[in-house]
Amino acid sequence: MFARSLLGSDTQLNQTSYYEASVDRPAPCPPLQGTVVADVVVVGGGFAGLSAALELAQRGLSVVLLEADRIGSGASGRNGGQAIVGYASGQAPFEQQLGAADAQRAWDMSVEAVELIEQRIAEHGIGCDWQRGYTYVAETAKKARALREECDDHHRRGVPCAWAEGDEVARFVDSPRYVAAFHEQRSGHLHPLKYALGLARAAQAAGVRMFEGSPVTGLQRGATLVASTAGGQVRARFGVLAGNCMLPEHGPQVAPEIAPRIMPVGTYIIGTAPLDPALCERLIAHNAAVCDNNFVLDYFRFSADHRMLFGGRVSYTTMTPPDLQGVMARRMGAVFPALQGVPVEFVWGGFVDISMNRAPDFGRLGDNLYYLQGFSGHGVALTGLAGRLVAEAVAGQAGRFDVFARLKHHAFPGGPLLRTPSLALGMLWYRLRDAL
Ligand SMILES: Cc1cc2nc3c(=O)[nH]c(=O)nc-3n(C[C@H](O)[C@H](O)[C@H](O)COP(=O)(O)OP(=O)(O)OC[C@H]3O[C@@H](n4cnc5c(N)ncnc54)[C@H](O)[C@@H]3O)c2cc1C
Repeated sequence: MFARSLLGSDTQLNQTSYYEASVDRPAPCPPLQGTVVADVVVVGGGFAGLSAALELAQRGLSVVLLEADRIGSGASGRNGGQAIVGYASGQAPFEQQLGAADAQRAWDMSVEAVELIEQRIAEHGIGCDWQRGYTYVAETAKKARALREECDDHHRRGVPCAWAEGDEVARFVDSPRYVAAFHEQRSGHLHPLKYALGLARAAQAAGVRMFEGSPVTGLQRGATLVASTAGGQVRARFGVLAGNCMLPEHGPQVAPEIAPRIMPVGTYIIGTAPLDPALCERLIAHNAAVCDNNFVLDYFRFSADHRMLFGGRVSYTTMTPPDLQGVMARRMGAVFPALQGVPVEFVWGGFVDISMNRAPDFGRLGDNLYYLQGFSGHGVALTGLAGRLVAEAVAGQAGRFDVFARLKHHAFPGGPLLRTPSLALGMLWYRLRDAL
């Protein structure tokens, strides 16, 4: 009942993605052949790897990026597109482990992460349907109390929010399901694959050499790193591992010590046929992105062409749930009765890399190999910042990177065979708690 390899199900989950259907991809970059020398080798062509590559090249370093499949074919090209300030973990791990001052620094960097998206869109002319506005919603009185605390915390940390409860919630989201909401204008949403391809163009223009269809299967460490693919190798002084959940699938020996600290959790999205723009405006004010505060959450928004992109449902076993489209359509219909029976044209999904405490897991292996993982479903904005922090660290300014690198992370219990079932059982408890 538990998938042994993620690769097959991951590829299959991207086959009917709205995002893939709504972009014109450029011709593929060729796979790596022969030996190439660079200052930095980046493994992974998602937001984290692309951002690191771009920032490093902008600092004058020669960079090679190796992508196993296509640029943006992983989580970065498939996600809900919600670029959110703050962390999946909340502030608790930062406060407890780093103290109040560095916890606030981390928060401020999460705000910078969203601003960085806007800067890059402007600087590199990336058309990706960027839209500001974010609304959080709660389903029960108990959840509403937790949401109020989150709203107050946003205020205290410098992000203004508008609060609503009872009938007033309809000012933001017109659904019978929610009893409270808050809205803020720092976060927003975008078309993630257009953004990823735009970042890739910017990185190439800055001099990054990119190779697609080039999974890294081995990495020799030392003063010179040697990253190997089937067709060649890259020799570099520095390395950045940004392969997300698929890194150990393609190269089990590349960084075996960090793999057990993240778990792949499946999450899924449906895309409806285009809707009447007036209906969209009535259902979600300000064209905001929305998510609830359940442990297993629903997240949704409208695309630029007025489709409801409704995400949720999770798989802790990594197996794709049966009747995915039907289940998701029913969830959407429960939130918005007006959308019951609306045609669903796309259904897709992918894996998020959750860490035990849901805080991001950034660090070094030796002194020249960096890794970025554990975005825990909050990576759309944070990956961009992560890439910038790696580039700062490689350039000798590691202060901000080390705010994150100081966070302690633990392996999921159970080892390679048992950690997936034990996580599935553990999560069942949280789901039950949501229902109480
Ligand atoms: C369905 C879904 C919805 C989500 N919704 C949201 C959301 O709304 N908001 C939010 O903030 N976050 C969301 N996320 C999470 C977010 O998408 C991720 O945190 C983020 O994209 C991670 O970026 P990345 O660059 O680390 O990984 P990826 O985008 O997965 O990129 C990693 C890349 O590395 C490549 N790779 C792996 N191993 C190797 C190797 N050995 N050699 C070469 N290449 C390799 C892979 O092929 C892949 O392209 C969602 C994720 C999913 C799956």
